[in-house]
Amino acid sequence: MSSNITRIDHPLIAHKLSLMRDKSTPSAVFRQLLRETSLLMAYEVLRDLPLTARRIETPLEAMDAPFLAGRKLVLVSILRAGNGLLDGMLDLVPSARVGHIGLYRDHETLAAVEYYLKLPADVGERPVILVDPMLATGNSVSAAVARLKQHGCRDIRFVCLLAAPQGIAALAEAHPDVRVFTAAIDSHLDDHGYIVPGLGDAGDRMYGTK
Ligand code: URA
Repeated sequence: MSSNITRIDHPLIAHKLSLMRDKSTPSAVFRQLLRETSLLMAYEVLRDLPLTARRIETPLEAMDAPFLAGRKLVLVSILRAGNGLLDGMLDLVPSARVGHIGLYRDHETLAAVEYYLKLPADVGERPVILVDPMLATGNSVSAAVARLKQHGCRDIRFVCLLAAPQGIAALAEAHPDVRVFTAAIDSHLDDHGYIVPGLGDAGDRMYGTK
């Protein structure tokens, strides 16, 4: 297993993930759980953000208080399911910039096809958190990372809910510099590239499109 992967192990995340896997969970509840889970995951993903001290006055005395340092983060969502993770992260880091990469899977080849791209102009100078709930074949994420690198990005982390061993290996091979955070590592992919046991199509589960 790649040393670049961190499985975020927390009882609240495990519990919420099990509810999301359950096929009887309605879309509205699924979306809420995904938002809550991404907020909890962001806490761990951003644990090493740099801090700087600034002088402030509390009601009692002056102190050097820690504040976030450096350039603001960019959160990049792989459409459409990435938006489910994006919302919880924005709750926690509301001043982050946001980018979107639209990719769909060619159902024959499972290759990623880009149909939309909107990134902050200075994305290459900022740390990037790329989000997509499912790391399956790794094709979409690898394509998204390649596009971000074309825009100068060098500090990229990828956050997903579920990862398959095949996708972890493919991403590590294509982009060994990208750190991956996931809530669970599942068994395998089926013949259609779905994660097993998984949770189904994340976009369909979020938006009730099936
Ligand atoms: N995308 C999904 O939404 N689900 C999977 O299982 C794999 C890719």
